[in-house]
Amino acid sequence: MNVELFSTAQTHFKGNLHTHSTISDGMRDPKEIADAYRKKGYDFLAFTEHYTFTWLQELNQPDFLILPGIEAGCSAPGPYQIHHVVGIGGADIQTEHFQNFDHSQLHGTTGAQTVVDTLQEQGYLSIYCHPVWSRQSFAEIAQLERFQAIEVYNHNCYLEDHTGHASYYWDAFLRQGTRIWAVATDDSHQKAEDFGGGWVVVNAPSLTVEAINQALLQGSFYSSNGPAIEAYGVKDGKVYVRCSPAVSIHFVAFERRGGSFHATGDRLLTEATHTLHGDEKYVRIEVVDERGRTAWSNPIFF
Ligand SMILES: [Zn+2]
Ligand SMILES: [Zn+2]
Repeated sequence: MNVELFSTAQTHFKGNLHTHSTISDGMRDPKEIADAYRKKGYDFLAFTEHYTFTWLQELNQPDFLILPGIEAGCSAPGPYQIHHVVGIGGADIQTEHFQNFDHSQLHGTTGAQTVVDTLQEQGYLSIYCHPVWSRQSFAEIAQLERFQAIEVYNHNCYLEDHTGHASYYWDAFLRQGTRIWAVATDDSHQKAEDFGGGWVVVNAPSLTVEAINQALLQGSFYSSNGPAIEAYGVKDGKVYVRCSPAVSIHFVAFERRGGSFHATGDRLLTEATHTLHGDEKYVRIEVVDERGRTAWSNPIFF
């Protein structure tokens, strides 16, 4: 199979899929936040207020799009445990939904599945958030189904207490056959400098809710907290990536092992290829820059 899964040669848009404002427990008002992201070069933003459906279309600009969003969830057995799921809505979202998301009867992983299914019924795609911060073991969430993505990186959790990284959980889902994408997000609350620390770059034909939602569903994007990916895909039996200067490029594969490339001397890497053996179930790419920051491709499934 020859396929390019992401390319900056195609129309692409940068966005943050997880943000709180004064509507829930953020510190700044939505307009201030939208302006700050637009100034930073972002193209789209989702306000994902706790249990409150939000679609602030009045903040749309010709070059800046607000997506419908919510962060829902439920309690979990342990005193520090919780489940949080971000929902990103499509263009057909009915604005009366979720004004009063009732989670009082939901509990544990069964409750989390109900949240995912309720979001899906209403036309949202679901992202399982910050599992390390939520104190969930993989075993506790392994049975979750019908969600589209997991937060491989949550910037606010990273800043707060180093609970923002979750690539182990992502691979664990992929290795048991649960096909999900990964996203990096800010989860900005404006209590710290938490703007612009985790984002996605999406290949979509236009900056509309429908096009971005569709691209997220299809996995036509990559995630990052630093480096940029120019293109990745498969050509003539090899997985390839082109990227901003990197100290390491990893091809993470399963079940057969993948491979890593590392810069030598002061010559940084801007591309790499990995030869497929033909029995890989998936390959995904991580690009690491000199500051230890990472860009994550979505998995290529075989
Ligand atoms: Zn959360
Ligand atoms: Zn949040």
